[in-house]
Amino acid sequence: DGVMMSALSRPSRMMLLVNPQSGKGPGAHGSTTTTIQHMLNEAGVTHTLVITERQNHARELVKEADLSQWDALVIMSGDGLLYEVINGLLDRPDWEEAVRTPLGILPGGSGNALAASIHHYSGAPPVFSEELLLSCGFLLCQRLVTRMDLVSVHLSSSPRLFSFLSLAWGFVADVDIESEKYRHTGAARFTIGTLVRLASLRVYRGTLSYLPVAEDDGEEDNPPLHHQAPPSREPPCQNSFHNSCHSNNSLKVRKAESTPSRSTTKAPSGPLDSLLLPLDQPLPGDWVVVPEEDFVLVLAMYQSNLAEDLLASPDSTPDDGFIHLFYVTGGISRAALLKLFLAMEKGLHLASSCQHLVHAKVRALRLEPSSPKGVITVDGEVVEYGPLQAEVHRGLARLITG
Ligand code: ADP
Ligand code: MG
Repeated sequence: DGVMMSALSRPSRMMLLVNPQSGKGPGAHGSTTTTIQHMLNEAGVTHTLVITERQNHARELVKEADLSQWDALVIMSGDGLLYEVINGLLDRPDWEEAVRTPLGILPGGSGNALAASIHHYSGAPPVFSEELLLSCGFLLCQRLVTRMDLVSVHLSSSPRLFSFLSLAWGFVADVDIESEKYRHTGAARFTIGTLVRLASLRVYRGTLSYLPVAEDDGEEDNPPLHHQAPPSREPPCQNSFHNSCHSNNSLKVRKAESTPSRSTTKAPSGPLDSLLLPLDQPLPGDWVVVPEEDFVLVLAMYQSNLAEDLLASPDSTPDDGFIHLFYVTGGISRAALLKLFLAMEKGLHLASSCQHLVHAKVRALRLEPSSPKGVITVDGEVVEYGPLQAEVHRGLARLITG
């Protein structure tokens, strides 16, 4: 087995994107930004600070940027700003190259799920707030890059979008949105939101289907792709990283393997979704249709953490190529649901053998809500409500994990 990670060359140049509105709100960032800039300087990381001025500013900026100027794009915000950056990259005519730009994240928001996941992958015991920021700053300075799965999401009328973290419907999506009003409490907003939503627990109706991961479809089918010399032997030029990506042709191989026998969804840019049929067509026979139609929550995860203190998918790794699908069926009591969320702090909810909680490793899924109104979130951001489907693209992006 090969070296899974590669290192950015040193010195490296990072674009540091900061959302001044994230986390507890305006002005909460001054001193933390200074601390991080200090750490980066010490580590020899040249960086340019970019403060976003409005929603979608980062997305537009990244869509137009000369990416040859940057070794990495680093977000200091919540997950929402990285979501913008990733979708900006996939929106470029040169998306295939652009999406390989290493991405980093520092927890500056109230929803810092990816930052918490990166900390979790490092094997260290959980930490929160400022300690999490320091840990992620330290990991970022090590500049080790790994692959990251992205999930492409089709909604009924919006353009296709790309997701790096989660897709949620029902309880979790509602908490995500309703807890906006507790933003001033920081990451505690989700705990408060969960308790409030428990009081008005409801059931959401719909049909959930998925393409399960085949049993022989384990890690071996897609071995680590970054076979590369250790960092110290890297030539100190910026191109070394990009060249290393070109020098492996495995992405091309995978594409050829998944040739579009049943693919019809072609988008202007981004990878082909070879597992999905149009949303209005019946599913292929190898898909599983969940028999229940009453759900309390449906949650698809492709990183370990749903929040700083919610280890929702403890087995997820950034490039396992799996969508970890969790759902809780109707009929669960408030007490049992609360118990699940408490167990989730340590990632022990699956061990609690709750009859209403189901976990499946899948490659693709389709969700057809029949409740007339509701909330669906992708990476914590609200998207169009209605039928949707999604497919995972293994290792499409690059993430600095340290
Ligand atoms: P948080 O975790 O605190 O919610 P996010 O990074 O998720 O932080 O950002 C919240 C929202 O703010 C996202 O939808 C993002 O697109 C948006 N956003 C980014 N920059 C700005 C800005 N300068 N002003 C207002 N909203 C912004
Ligand atoms: Mg957010």
